[in-house]
Amino acid sequence: MVRTYSSTCFGPEGSLVEIEASIQEAIPGIVITGLAGEIVKESRERVRACIATLGLKVPSARTVVHLSPATEKKQGSQLDLGIAMAILAVEKQFPLKKPLHRLGFLGELSLDGRIRAIDHAVALADALLKSKRIEHLFVPEANAREVSLLGCACVTPVATFAELLAFLQSGEMLPLLPEVPLPEFPNSTAEGPLDKVRGQAVGKRALQIALAGSHHLLLVGPPGVGKSMLAAAAPSLLPPLDREELIELAKNQSRIDWESADALRRPFRTPHHSASAGSLIGGGSRSVCGGEVSLAHAGVLFLDEFPEFRKDALEGLREPLQSGEIFLHRVGVHARFPARFLLIAAMNPCPCGYAFQTVKRCRCHPAKAEAYRRRISGPIFDRLDLCVVLGLPTDEASHTTLSHQAVADSVARVRARKATEKAKPFEPPLSQDSEEWLENLKAKEYLSYRSIDKTLRVANTIAELAEKAVIEVDHLREAWSLRCRQFPTLF
Ligand SMILES: [Zn+2]
Repeated sequence: MVRTYSSTCFGPEGSLVEIEASIQEAIPGIVITGLAGEIVKESRERVRACIATLGLKVPSARTVVHLSPATEKKQGSQLDLGIAMAILAVEKQFPLKKPLHRLGFLGELSLDGRIRAIDHAVALADALLKSKRIEHLFVPEANAREVSLLGCACVTPVATFAELLAFLQSGEMLPLLPEVPLPEFPNSTAEGPLDKVRGQAVGKRALQIALAGSHHLLLVGPPGVGKSMLAAAAPSLLPPLDREELIELAKNQSRIDWESADALRRPFRTPHHSASAGSLIGGGSRSVCGGEVSLAHAGVLFLDEFPEFRKDALEGLREPLQSGEIFLHRVGVHARFPARFLLIAAMNPCPCGYAFQTVKRCRCHPAKAEAYRRRISGPIFDRLDLCVVLGLPTDEASHTTLSHQAVADSVARVRARKATEKAKPFEPPLSQDSEEWLENLKAKEYLSYRSIDKTLRVANTIAELAEKAVIEVDHLREAWSLRCRQFPTLF
Protein backbone atom coordinates (compact mmCIF):
# COMPACT_ATOMS: atom_id res chain seq x y z
CA MET A 1 0.00 0.00 0.00
CA VAL A 2 1.23 3.51 -0.73
CA ARG A 3 0.03 6.81 0.51
CA THR A 4 0.31 10.40 -0.66
CA TYR A 5 -1.55 13.68 -0.30
CA SER A 6 -3.65 16.16 -2.21
CA SER A 7 -6.55 18.42 -1.28
CA THR A 8 -10.07 19.42 -2.22
CA CYS A 9 -12.22 22.42 -1.47
CA PHE A 10 -15.81 23.61 -1.25
CA GLY A 11 -15.52 27.33 -0.72
CA PRO A 12 -12.44 29.33 0.15
CA GLU A 13 -10.75 26.84 2.47
CA GLY A 14 -9.26 23.61 1.17
CA SER A 15 -9.08 20.37 3.11
CA LEU A 16 -6.48 17.63 3.03
CA VAL A 17 -7.14 14.43 1.07
CA GLU A 18 -5.12 11.34 1.81
CA ILE A 19 -4.68 9.14 -1.29
CA GLU A 20 -3.99 5.46 -0.67
CA ALA A 21 -3.45 2.88 -3.38
CA SER A 22 -3.30 -0.89 -3.06
CA ILE A 23 -3.24 -3.82 -5.47
CA GLN A 24 -5.63 -6.75 -5.46
CA GLU A 25 -5.64 -10.05 -7.33
CA ALA A 26 -8.41 -9.46 -9.84
CA ILE A 27 -9.13 -8.30 -13.36
CA PRO A 28 -6.89 -5.27 -14.09
CA GLY A 29 -8.56 -1.94 -13.58
CA ILE A 30 -8.63 1.17 -11.44
CA VAL A 31 -11.26 1.66 -8.75
CA ILE A 32 -11.62 4.97 -6.92
CA THR A 33 -13.45 4.99 -3.59
CA GLY A 34 -14.16 7.63 -0.93
CA LEU A 35 -17.05 9.93 -1.95
CA ALA A 36 -15.43 10.96 -5.21
CA GLY A 37 -17.40 13.46 -7.28
CA GLU A 38 -17.97 13.13 -11.05
CA ILE A 39 -14.75 14.89 -12.03
CA VAL A 40 -12.71 12.77 -9.63
CA LYS A 41 -14.22 9.56 -11.02
CA GLU A 42 -13.23 10.62 -14.52
CA SER A 43 -9.70 11.07 -13.24
CA ARG A 44 -9.25 7.33 -13.83
CA GLU A 45 -9.33 7.81 -17.59
CA ARG A 46 -7.02 10.82 -17.60
CA VAL A 47 -4.52 9.01 -15.40
CA ARG A 48 -4.61 5.89 -17.56
CA ALA A 49 -4.05 7.89 -20.76
CA CYS A 50 -1.29 9.92 -19.20
CA ILE A 51 0.60 6.89 -17.90
CA ALA A 52 0.30 5.33 -21.35
CA THR A 53 2.24 8.25 -22.82
CA LEU A 54 5.18 7.07 -20.71
CA GLY A 55 5.03 3.75 -22.52
CA LEU A 56 3.80 1.82 -19.48
CA LYS A 57 0.95 -0.64 -19.22
CA VAL A 58 -0.77 0.26 -16.01
CA PRO A 59 -2.60 -1.08 -14.22
CA SER A 60 -1.29 -4.59 -14.44
CA ALA A 61 -3.65 -5.62 -11.66
CA ARG A 62 -6.75 -4.34 -9.93
CA THR A 63 -5.68 -1.12 -8.23
CA VAL A 64 -7.89 0.38 -5.56
CA VAL A 65 -7.39 4.08 -4.89
CA HIS A 66 -9.03 5.27 -1.72
CA LEU A 67 -9.53 8.91 -0.88
CA SER A 68 -9.93 9.71 2.78
CA PRO A 69 -11.55 10.97 4.93
CA ALA A 70 -14.23 8.77 3.39
CA THR A 71 -17.07 10.85 4.84
CA GLU A 72 -16.06 14.04 3.04
CA LYS A 73 -16.95 14.78 -0.57
CA LYS A 74 -14.05 15.25 -2.96
CA GLN A 75 -14.28 17.30 -6.08
CA GLY A 76 -11.99 18.75 -8.70
CA SER A 77 -9.45 17.59 -11.22
CA GLN A 78 -6.51 18.65 -9.04
CA LEU A 79 -6.50 15.15 -7.50
CA ASP A 80 -5.33 13.62 -10.83
CA LEU A 81 -1.66 14.05 -10.13
CA GLY A 82 -1.75 12.48 -6.68
CA ILE A 83 -3.85 9.57 -7.94
CA ALA A 84 -1.43 8.94 -10.83
CA MET A 85 1.56 9.00 -8.51
CA ALA A 86 -0.07 6.60 -6.06
CA ILE A 87 -0.88 4.14 -8.88
CA LEU A 88 2.61 4.25 -10.32
CA ALA A 89 4.16 3.81 -6.90
CA VAL A 90 2.00 0.90 -5.81
CA GLU A 91 2.82 -0.85 -9.10
CA LYS A 92 6.50 -0.26 -8.29
CA GLN A 93 7.02 1.12 -11.77
CA PHE A 94 9.38 3.77 -10.58
CA PRO A 95 12.01 3.68 -7.87
CA LEU A 96 11.45 7.04 -6.17
CA LYS A 97 14.17 8.80 -4.21
CA LYS A 98 11.64 10.64 -2.09
CA PRO A 99 9.10 8.93 0.17
CA LEU A 100 5.70 9.49 -1.42
CA HIS A 101 3.94 9.90 1.92
CA ARG A 102 5.91 13.08 2.56
CA LEU A 103 4.82 14.67 -0.72
CA GLY A 104 1.72 16.53 -1.86
CA PHE A 105 0.45 16.84 -5.43
CA LEU A 106 -1.94 19.22 -7.12
CA GLY A 107 -2.62 19.20 -10.83
CA GLU A 108 -4.93 18.11 -13.58
CA LEU A 109 -3.48 15.71 -16.15
CA SER A 110 -4.08 16.14 -19.83
CA LEU A 111 -4.13 13.03 -21.98
CA ASP A 112 -0.70 13.83 -23.45
CA GLY A 113 1.00 14.14 -20.08
CA ARG A 114 0.92 17.89 -19.55
CA ILE A 115 -0.02 19.19 -16.12
CA ARG A 116 -2.78 21.72 -16.46
CA ALA A 117 -3.77 24.66 -14.31
CA ILE A 118 -6.31 24.09 -11.56
CA ASP A 119 -8.99 26.22 -9.94
CA HIS A 120 -8.71 27.33 -6.30
CA ALA A 121 -4.93 26.75 -6.34
CA VAL A 122 -4.23 29.03 -3.38
CA ALA A 123 -6.84 27.46 -1.10
CA LEU A 124 -5.80 23.94 -2.10
CA ALA A 125 -2.08 24.55 -1.65
CA ASP A 126 -2.65 26.32 1.63
CA ALA A 127 -4.55 23.35 3.05
CA LEU A 128 -1.69 21.01 2.16
CA LEU A 129 1.05 23.27 3.48
CA LYS A 130 -0.81 23.92 6.73
CA SER A 131 -1.42 20.23 7.34
CA LYS A 132 2.26 19.66 8.24
CA ARG A 133 1.98 16.17 6.76
CA ILE A 134 4.09 16.95 3.72
CA GLU A 135 7.63 18.17 3.17
CA HIS A 136 7.21 19.10 -0.44
CA LEU A 137 4.39 20.16 -2.71
CA PHE A 138 4.14 20.01 -6.50
CA VAL A 139 1.81 22.42 -8.29
CA PRO A 140 1.07 23.12 -11.97
CA GLU A 141 3.47 25.64 -13.43
CA ALA A 142 0.52 27.71 -14.62
CA ASN A 143 -0.56 28.21 -10.99
CA ALA A 144 2.92 29.00 -9.69
CA ARG A 145 2.43 32.73 -9.35
CA GLU A 146 -0.75 32.40 -7.31
CA VAL A 147 0.75 29.80 -5.00
CA SER A 148 3.84 31.95 -4.49
CA LEU A 149 1.59 34.29 -2.51
CA LEU A 150 1.72 31.74 0.30
CA GLY A 151 5.46 32.41 0.53
CA CYS A 152 6.43 28.82 1.20
CA ALA A 153 9.89 27.47 0.44
CA CYS A 154 8.87 23.90 -0.33
CA VAL A 155 6.82 24.19 -3.50
CA THR A 156 8.00 23.09 -6.94
CA PRO A 157 6.10 24.03 -10.11
CA VAL A 158 5.93 21.34 -12.77
CA ALA A 159 4.78 21.49 -16.39
CA THR A 160 4.62 17.83 -17.42
CA PHE A 161 4.17 14.47 -15.77
CA ALA A 162 7.45 13.22 -17.28
CA GLU A 163 9.29 16.18 -15.76
CA LEU A 164 7.79 15.40 -12.36
CA LEU A 165 8.86 11.76 -12.53
CA ALA A 166 12.37 12.78 -13.54
CA PHE A 167 12.58 15.01 -10.47
CA LEU A 168 11.39 12.29 -8.16
CA GLN A 169 13.85 9.73 -9.51
CA SER A 170 16.87 11.96 -9.62
CA GLY A 171 17.04 12.72 -5.91
CA GLU A 172 18.53 16.08 -6.77
CA MET A 173 17.58 19.33 -5.17
CA LEU A 174 14.28 20.42 -6.59
CA PRO A 175 13.88 23.80 -8.21
CA LEU A 176 11.80 25.80 -5.79
CA LEU A 177 9.15 28.35 -6.41
CA PRO A 178 10.66 31.80 -6.09
CA GLU A 179 8.76 34.07 -3.77
CA VAL A 180 7.26 36.80 -5.90
CA PRO A 181 7.36 40.20 -4.21
CA LEU A 182 4.12 42.12 -4.10
CA PRO A 183 4.01 44.82 -6.73
CA GLU A 184 4.44 48.38 -5.56
CA PHE A 185 1.84 50.80 -6.78
CA PRO A 186 3.41 54.18 -7.37
CA ASN A 187 2.08 56.80 -5.02
CA SER A 188 1.59 59.41 -7.68
CA THR A 189 1.13 63.02 -6.80
CA ALA A 190 -0.71 63.62 -10.07
CA GLU A 191 -4.45 64.13 -10.15
CA GLY A 192 -6.30 61.18 -8.62
CA PRO A 193 -9.85 60.05 -9.37
CA LEU A 194 -11.21 62.06 -6.43
CA ASP A 195 -9.85 65.29 -7.92
CA LYS A 196 -12.07 64.76 -10.94
CA VAL A 197 -15.21 65.06 -8.80
CA ARG A 198 -16.38 68.64 -8.98
CA GLY A 199 -17.33 70.26 -5.68
CA GLN A 200 -19.04 67.85 -3.27
CA ALA A 201 -16.99 68.87 -0.23
CA VAL A 202 -19.37 67.05 2.12
CA GLY A 203 -19.33 63.91 -0.02
CA LYS A 204 -15.54 63.84 -0.11
CA ARG A 205 -15.28 64.40 3.61
CA ALA A 206 -17.81 61.60 4.27
CA LEU A 207 -15.81 59.32 1.99
CA GLN A 208 -12.60 60.14 3.86
CA ILE A 209 -14.21 59.27 7.20
CA ALA A 210 -15.82 56.12 5.76
CA LEU A 211 -12.52 54.82 4.39
CA ALA A 212 -10.47 55.73 7.44
CA GLY A 213 -12.82 54.09 9.92
CA SER A 214 -14.41 51.40 7.71
CA HIS A 215 -17.85 52.97 8.10
CA HIS A 216 -20.46 51.93 5.57
CA LEU A 217 -21.67 54.94 3.63
CA LEU A 218 -24.92 55.93 1.96
CA LEU A 219 -24.79 58.69 -0.65
CA VAL A 220 -28.12 60.32 -1.40
CA GLY A 221 -28.57 62.76 -4.22
CA PRO A 222 -30.15 63.61 -7.55
CA PRO A 223 -28.95 61.90 -10.74
CA GLY A 224 -25.65 63.12 -12.16
CA VAL A 225 -24.42 64.62 -8.91
CA GLY A 226 -21.25 62.52 -8.76
CA LYS A 227 -22.25 59.64 -6.46
CA SER A 228 -20.74 56.99 -8.73
CA MET A 229 -17.55 58.99 -9.25
CA LEU A 230 -17.06 59.39 -5.51
CA ALA A 231 -17.55 55.66 -4.99
CA ALA A 232 -15.27 54.72 -7.88
CA ALA A 233 -12.48 56.81 -6.33
CA ALA A 234 -12.68 54.80 -3.09
CA PRO A 235 -10.43 51.79 -3.89
CA SER A 236 -7.54 54.01 -5.01
CA LEU A 237 -7.82 55.98 -1.76
CA LEU A 238 -7.17 52.87 0.32
CA PRO A 239 -3.63 51.61 1.02
CA PRO A 240 -2.41 48.69 -1.16
CA LEU A 241 -3.44 45.17 -0.18
CA ASP A 242 -1.12 43.36 2.18
CA ARG A 243 -0.14 39.73 1.68
CA GLU A 244 -2.73 38.38 4.11
CA GLU A 245 -5.53 40.23 2.35
CA LEU A 246 -4.27 39.05 -1.03
CA ILE A 247 -4.30 35.43 0.12
CA GLU A 248 -7.85 35.78 1.42
CA LEU A 249 -8.94 37.39 -1.84
CA ALA A 250 -7.20 34.71 -3.89
CA LYS A 251 -9.00 32.03 -1.89
CA ASN A 252 -12.35 33.70 -2.52
CA GLN A 253 -11.85 33.46 -6.27
CA SER A 254 -11.50 30.28 -8.23
CA ARG A 255 -8.78 31.69 -10.46
CA ILE A 256 -6.95 34.96 -10.62
CA ASP A 257 -6.12 36.68 -13.85
CA TRP A 258 -2.53 37.63 -13.07
CA GLU A 259 -2.06 39.23 -16.44
CA SER A 260 -4.60 41.89 -15.53
CA ALA A 261 -3.16 44.90 -13.72
CA ASP A 262 -6.21 44.90 -11.43
CA ALA A 263 -5.50 41.47 -9.97
CA LEU A 264 -3.57 42.90 -7.05
CA ARG A 265 -5.59 46.05 -6.54
CA ARG A 266 -8.38 46.45 -4.04
CA PRO A 267 -11.62 45.16 -5.51
CA PHE A 268 -14.36 47.52 -6.60
CA ARG A 269 -17.50 45.51 -7.27
CA THR A 270 -20.56 47.14 -8.79
CA PRO A 271 -23.36 44.59 -9.18
CA HIS A 272 -26.48 45.80 -10.98
CA HIS A 273 -29.65 46.27 -8.96
CA SER A 274 -31.28 43.38 -10.82
CA ALA A 275 -28.72 41.00 -9.26
CA SER A 276 -30.18 37.94 -7.57
CA ALA A 277 -29.57 37.23 -3.90
CA GLY A 278 -27.43 34.28 -5.02
CA SER A 279 -25.08 36.34 -7.13
CA LEU A 280 -24.80 39.02 -4.49
CA ILE A 281 -24.38 36.81 -1.44
CA GLY A 282 -23.15 33.56 -2.96
CA GLY A 283 -24.53 30.10 -3.47
CA GLY A 284 -24.44 27.51 -6.20
CA SER A 285 -25.75 23.98 -6.28
CA ARG A 286 -22.78 21.84 -7.35
CA SER A 287 -20.15 23.69 -5.40
CA VAL A 288 -20.39 26.61 -3.06
CA CYS A 289 -19.39 29.84 -4.78
CA GLY A 290 -18.84 33.19 -3.18
CA GLY A 291 -20.92 36.11 -4.38
CA GLU A 292 -20.19 39.78 -4.91
CA VAL A 293 -19.83 40.33 -1.17
CA SER A 294 -16.85 37.99 -0.97
CA LEU A 295 -15.36 39.17 -4.25
CA ALA A 296 -15.43 42.65 -2.73
CA HIS A 297 -13.52 41.44 0.35
CA ALA A 298 -10.88 43.98 1.43
CA GLY A 299 -12.30 46.42 -1.10
CA VAL A 300 -15.45 48.29 -1.93
CA LEU A 301 -18.93 47.05 -2.79
CA PHE A 302 -20.83 49.79 -4.59
CA LEU A 303 -24.59 49.39 -4.82
CA ASP A 304 -26.09 52.10 -7.00
CA GLU A 305 -29.88 52.57 -7.01
CA PHE A 306 -29.86 50.96 -3.58
CA PRO A 307 -33.65 50.79 -3.05
CA GLU A 308 -34.07 49.09 -6.45
CA PHE A 309 -32.23 45.96 -5.29
CA ARG A 310 -34.32 42.89 -4.64
CA LYS A 311 -35.52 42.65 -1.08
CA ASP A 312 -33.99 39.23 -0.44
CA ALA A 313 -30.67 40.43 -1.85
CA LEU A 314 -30.62 43.45 0.46
CA GLU A 315 -31.60 41.39 3.49
CA GLY A 316 -28.81 38.97 2.66
CA LEU A 317 -26.35 41.80 3.22
CA ARG A 318 -27.15 41.92 6.92
CA GLU A 319 -24.88 39.04 7.88
CA PRO A 320 -21.72 40.16 6.05
CA LEU A 321 -22.26 43.81 7.03
CA GLN A 322 -22.45 42.78 10.65
CA SER A 323 -19.76 40.12 10.87
CA GLY A 324 -17.49 40.62 7.85
CA GLU A 325 -18.04 37.07 6.67
CA ILE A 326 -20.70 34.95 5.07
CA PHE A 327 -21.64 31.33 5.77
CA LEU A 328 -23.05 29.32 2.88
CA HIS A 329 -24.69 25.97 3.39
CA ARG A 330 -25.42 23.38 0.73
CA VAL A 331 -26.19 19.70 1.03
CA GLY A 332 -23.41 18.34 3.18
CA VAL A 333 -21.19 21.36 2.62
CA HIS A 334 -20.60 24.41 4.78
CA ALA A 335 -18.30 27.16 3.72
CA ARG A 336 -17.24 30.41 5.32
CA PHE A 337 -16.20 33.22 3.00
CA PRO A 338 -14.48 36.32 4.30
CA ALA A 339 -16.50 39.36 3.21
CA ARG A 340 -15.02 42.39 4.96
CA PHE A 341 -15.92 44.99 2.37
CA LEU A 342 -16.80 48.63 2.63
CA LEU A 343 -20.34 49.21 1.42
CA ILE A 344 -21.00 52.39 -0.48
CA ALA A 345 -24.66 52.59 -1.37
CA ALA A 346 -26.16 55.32 -3.52
CA MET A 347 -29.74 56.35 -4.08
CA ASN A 348 -31.98 59.12 -5.24
CA PRO A 349 -33.81 60.75 -2.31
CA CYS A 350 -37.16 60.14 -4.03
CA PRO A 351 -38.38 58.67 -7.35
CA CYS A 352 -37.83 61.96 -9.25
CA GLY A 353 -34.50 62.51 -7.51
CA TYR A 354 -34.84 66.13 -6.42
CA ALA A 355 -36.11 65.95 -2.84
CA PHE A 356 -34.13 68.18 -0.41
CA GLN A 357 -32.77 70.28 -3.28
CA THR A 358 -33.11 74.02 -3.50
CA VAL A 359 -32.08 74.37 -7.17
CA LYS A 360 -34.83 72.13 -8.47
CA ARG A 361 -38.11 71.09 -6.85
CA CYS A 362 -39.27 67.57 -6.09
CA ARG A 363 -42.52 66.66 -7.82
CA CYS A 364 -43.15 63.37 -6.02
CA HIS A 365 -46.22 62.66 -3.92
CA PRO A 366 -44.93 62.61 -0.31
CA ALA A 367 -46.37 59.14 0.29
CA LYS A 368 -44.60 57.80 -2.80
CA ALA A 369 -41.28 59.36 -1.80
CA GLU A 370 -41.71 57.89 1.66
CA ALA A 371 -42.53 54.43 0.25
CA TYR A 372 -39.45 54.63 -1.97
CA ARG A 373 -37.16 55.29 1.00
CA ARG A 374 -38.84 52.61 3.06
CA ARG A 375 -37.76 49.95 0.59
CA ILE A 376 -34.56 49.87 2.58
CA SER A 377 -35.36 48.17 5.85
CA GLY A 378 -34.46 49.52 9.27
CA PRO A 379 -31.90 46.77 10.00
CA ILE A 380 -30.04 47.58 6.78
CA PHE A 381 -30.10 51.30 7.50
CA ASP A 382 -28.82 50.58 10.99
CA ARG A 383 -25.68 49.12 9.49
CA LEU A 384 -24.88 52.25 7.52
CA ASP A 385 -22.88 54.57 9.75
CA LEU A 386 -22.75 57.54 7.44
CA CYS A 387 -25.41 59.05 5.27
CA VAL A 388 -25.05 62.29 3.36
CA VAL A 389 -27.28 64.17 0.99
CA LEU A 390 -25.34 65.59 -1.93
CA GLY A 391 -26.45 68.76 -3.64
CA LEU A 392 -26.17 69.73 -7.27
CA PRO A 393 -22.72 71.34 -7.64
CA THR A 394 -22.57 75.10 -7.76
CA ASP A 395 -19.79 76.99 -9.54
CA GLU A 396 -18.05 78.55 -6.54
CA ALA A 397 -17.73 75.27 -4.62
CA SER A 398 -15.06 73.60 -6.74
CA HIS A 399 -11.82 74.88 -5.22
CA THR A 400 -11.99 74.21 -1.52
CA THR A 401 -12.45 70.45 -1.37
CA LEU A 402 -10.13 67.71 -0.13
CA SER A 403 -7.57 66.52 -2.65
CA HIS A 404 -7.16 62.89 -3.63
CA GLN A 405 -3.69 62.73 -2.15
CA ALA A 406 -4.71 64.33 1.14
CA VAL A 407 -7.51 61.82 1.60
CA ALA A 408 -5.30 58.86 0.65
CA ASP A 409 -2.59 59.95 3.10
CA SER A 410 -4.97 60.50 6.01
CA VAL A 411 -6.75 57.19 5.39
CA ALA A 412 -3.43 55.35 5.32
CA ARG A 413 -2.30 57.03 8.56
CA VAL A 414 -5.46 56.19 10.53
CA ARG A 415 -5.59 52.62 9.18
CA ALA A 416 -1.92 52.02 9.97
CA ARG A 417 -2.48 53.09 13.55
CA LYS A 418 -5.53 50.86 13.86
CA ALA A 419 -3.51 47.94 12.50
CA THR A 420 -0.74 48.34 15.06
CA GLU A 421 -3.28 48.52 17.87
CA LYS A 422 -5.35 45.58 16.74
CA ALA A 423 -5.55 43.98 20.17
CA LYS A 424 -6.95 47.09 21.77
CA PRO A 425 -8.61 49.45 19.32
CA PHE A 426 -7.61 53.04 19.70
CA GLU A 427 -10.50 54.90 21.27
CA PRO A 428 -10.10 58.49 22.29
CA PRO A 429 -12.16 59.38 25.38
CA LEU A 430 -14.79 62.14 25.33
CA SER A 431 -13.78 65.57 26.55
CA GLN A 432 -15.79 67.14 29.38
CA ASP A 433 -17.57 69.44 26.90
CA SER A 434 -18.37 66.52 24.64
CA GLU A 435 -19.99 64.62 27.49
CA GLU A 436 -22.24 67.60 28.16
CA TRP A 437 -23.03 68.10 24.48
CA LEU A 438 -24.05 64.47 24.17
CA GLU A 439 -26.24 64.68 27.28
CA ASN A 440 -27.94 67.75 25.80
CA LEU A 441 -28.54 65.95 22.54
CA LYS A 442 -30.01 62.98 24.35
CA ALA A 443 -32.36 65.29 26.24
CA LYS A 444 -33.49 66.98 23.03
CA GLU A 445 -33.91 64.03 20.70
CA TYR A 446 -34.96 60.47 21.03
CA LEU A 447 -31.76 58.50 20.53
CA SER A 448 -31.51 54.75 20.49
CA TYR A 449 -28.49 53.03 21.98
CA ARG A 450 -27.46 52.07 18.45
CA SER A 451 -27.75 55.63 17.26
CA ILE A 452 -25.48 56.92 20.06
CA ASP A 453 -23.01 54.13 19.46
CA LYS A 454 -22.85 54.95 15.74
CA THR A 455 -22.33 58.64 16.37
CA LEU A 456 -19.57 57.90 18.85
CA ARG A 457 -17.76 55.53 16.52
CA VAL A 458 -17.85 58.05 13.69
CA ALA A 459 -16.72 60.83 16.05
CA ASN A 460 -13.85 58.59 17.11
CA THR A 461 -12.69 58.28 13.50
CA ILE A 462 -13.01 62.05 13.03
CA ALA A 463 -10.84 62.62 16.13
CA GLU A 464 -8.28 60.17 14.77
CA LEU A 465 -8.23 61.96 11.42
CA ALA A 466 -7.63 65.21 13.31
CA GLU A 467 -4.88 63.45 15.33
CA LYS A 468 -6.58 64.36 18.59
CA ALA A 469 -6.38 62.26 21.75
CA VAL A 470 -9.91 63.15 22.90
CA ILE A 471 -13.23 63.42 21.13
CA GLU A 472 -14.14 67.09 21.07
CA VAL A 473 -17.53 68.71 20.56
CA ASP A 474 -16.71 69.55 16.95
CA HIS A 475 -16.05 65.89 16.22
CA LEU A 476 -19.36 64.86 17.74
CA ARG A 477 -21.19 67.62 15.92
CA GLU A 478 -19.75 66.58 12.59
CA ALA A 479 -20.50 62.91 13.24
CA TRP A 480 -24.07 63.83 14.09
CA SER A 481 -24.41 65.89 10.91
CA LEU A 482 -23.35 62.88 8.85
CA ARG A 483 -26.39 60.95 9.97
CA CYS A 484 -28.67 62.32 7.25
CA ARG A 485 -31.39 63.73 9.42
CA GLN A 486 -33.31 64.74 6.33
CA PHE A 487 -34.49 61.14 6.45
CA PRO A 488 -36.37 61.39 9.75
CA THR A 489 -38.50 58.37 9.00
CA LEU A 490 -35.48 56.17 8.73
CA PHE A 491 -33.26 57.43 11.52
ZN1 LIG B 1 -39.09 63.69 -5.95
